[in-house]
Amino acid sequence: MIGLISATAAGAVARDRLAAAWPGRTRVYDGPVREAVGRAFAECDQLVCFLATGAVVRLVAPLLSDKASDPGVVCVDEAQRHAVSLVGGHGGGANALALAVSGVLGCAPVVTTATDATGIPGLDTLGWPVEGATAAVTRAILDGAPVTLEADAVWPLPPLPGNVAPAGTSAGTTTRVAPGASAAGGGAPGAEPAVSLAEAAAIASVPVGGLPGAMAATVAAGVVAEAAVAEAAEKRSPDAPAVVRVSDRVLDLGEREVVLRPPSLVVGVGASKGAPADEVSGLIEETLAEAGLSVRSVAALATVDAKAEEAGIVEAAARLGVPLRTYAAEELARIDVPNPSGAPLAAVGTPSVAEAAALVGGGELLVPKRKSAPEGRVAMATCAVVRKEPRGRLAVVGLGPGARDLLTPRARDEIRRASVLVGLDQYVDQIRDLLRPGTRVLESGLGAEEERARTAVAEARAGHAVALIGSGDAGVYAMASPALAEASDDIDVVGVPGVTAALAAAAILGAPLGHDHVSISLSDLHTPWEVIERRVRAAAEADIVVTFYNPRSRGRDWQLPKALSILAEHREPTTPVGVVRNASRPDGTSRLTTIAALDPATVDMMTVVVVGNTAAREIAGRMVTPRGYRWQTEGS
Ligand code: SAH
Repeated sequence: MIGLISATAAGAVARDRLAAAWPGRTRVYDGPVREAVGRAFAECDQLVCFLATGAVVRLVAPLLSDKASDPGVVCVDEAQRHAVSLVGGHGGGANALALAVSGVLGCAPVVTTATDATGIPGLDTLGWPVEGATAAVTRAILDGAPVTLEADAVWPLPPLPGNVAPAGTSAGTTTRVAPGASAAGGGAPGAEPAVSLAEAAAIASVPVGGLPGAMAATVAAGVVAEAAVAEAAEKRSPDAPAVVRVSDRVLDLGEREVVLRPPSLVVGVGASKGAPADEVSGLIEETLAEAGLSVRSVAALATVDAKAEEAGIVEAAARLGVPLRTYAAEELARIDVPNPSGAPLAAVGTPSVAEAAALVGGGELLVPKRKSAPEGRVAMATCAVVRKEPRGRLAVVGLGPGARDLLTPRARDEIRRASVLVGLDQYVDQIRDLLRPGTRVLESGLGAEEERARTAVAEARAGHAVALIGSGDAGVYAMASPALAEASDDIDVVGVPGVTAALAAAAILGAPLGHDHVSISLSDLHTPWEVIERRVRAAAEADIVVTFYNPRSRGRDWQLPKALSILAEHREPTTPVGVVRNASRPDGTSRLTTIAALDPATVDMMTVVVVGNTAAREIAGRMVTPRGYRWQTEGS
């Protein structure tokens, strides 16, 4: 719930606009602002205060306790010019909220957390639990100081700047963090470090008592104020090397160390009917602690289908905040385990529940089956712990037809989430500015599809987070199929749809795809012409609107006229045809013509050609394919 607090009439108007835009998500807190802020702070996940930042700083300061649990606070000024992420930028979601509020009210978001400003992912935004000296290590990363990465395995982490390197590799240790994307491919040596922003990180990390004043200075100036920089400089920590560890083991952390907890462990659980949740949870926690494993690396609990509703197990999973995976007894019975037993075989039909359920899909059995040991009664729970191999991540991302605002937010996020980017050089150019420092870019020229697909899959199989990019939609005459034809089930694959050329062109032409339509590529490079011709003929006979991709190139000029002549056997010469070149790009053009009048010379490889069906019309200079005769008459 988002609490809304205002003091003035103008504030109340803005507040009501936000409340109307987000029904069910917001709650208005009336009355004296001190009391309203207090109540909202206690009851809500986030606050939007239509008050001066100074006032909010004073009101909120005494209420702050911990950045992991404090609500995120956003301030909107009287004139609604700025939405300031004031407190809880990452953990409280205030940065995202400031952006969302700006979207509704039309103001400018103000985000001052250093990692967002420099394009480096905050350690606390990776989606994994992080423990230790987060602020100090973040600051070292931003400073461009050498930071050692000690990972137990290759995990699909987002890109880390060049100064964050595995122990023993000096590569990049002198590389400065370049704000923005110019460091793509390993960092731009010599680029100025984001000193002032690094100091801002230090400010954000000072204890609560020191927070409000310094933050207010940062916000008020819009950039880091001189005084704040000076204050941060005094707080410089000694030069112990900073370390980022990635491990599921319980570790003694040094003063300048953090550990990221990867989701590497699966705990198999068995329980007799009615086993108390405390017994199940207690067993899991004790088992992990004794094995020196972090409970925060538990990715899931696993058990047999018959126990899917067992309250103690369900509750134990809920307490850990992880899913409960269940498997059929027959599947578990097939898994080789060190400690099979007769009891579960009789009860649920498999000689092992805990060990077998944890071992589904493979992994290393770190802790064999253990029983709970409740005092004075028989044990009701068992558990076993398995460590899973990390799975790499392959995102297949469509960039859209060219215009930046037709690249979806999800595509943007996936591009910035990946530490390895694979794509055709001209597509990489399209989004180079979005890349985070440290992204490894593997680009190749036209025609190397198979190689790109293989490279992307191989990088993902090595455990990395990979984005394979393509224009339009990456699944339409593009990289998704060759890549997924290569990929095995040991990687995670995420598809991000993009606006394909047919849709981008249709939006320019009018409404040519209003009824059944098909896309046909006229490239006979990989498909024999007979197959293409058969499909064109089928579309012609079935009276389907056709979008031709790859319609014509210098060496391939007879295919388009031939395809049009096949369509003309079933459609009037006056049937509208839309020719769109470079849709959504600055030099984009479009023209509306007819089957008879189309001049093939106006068509090249940057073009799609949309041919209407027999019902398609040109209306007011636009191409319109009616939804259908019956619908048009009945619906009007
Ligand atoms: N995956 C892409 C298509 C790749 S095939 C997509 O979904 O759009 C390449 C063909 O797509 C080009 O020959 C051209 O016919 C078409 N195309 C791609 N982008 C285009 C654009 N911006 N404008 C017009 N046609 C485009």
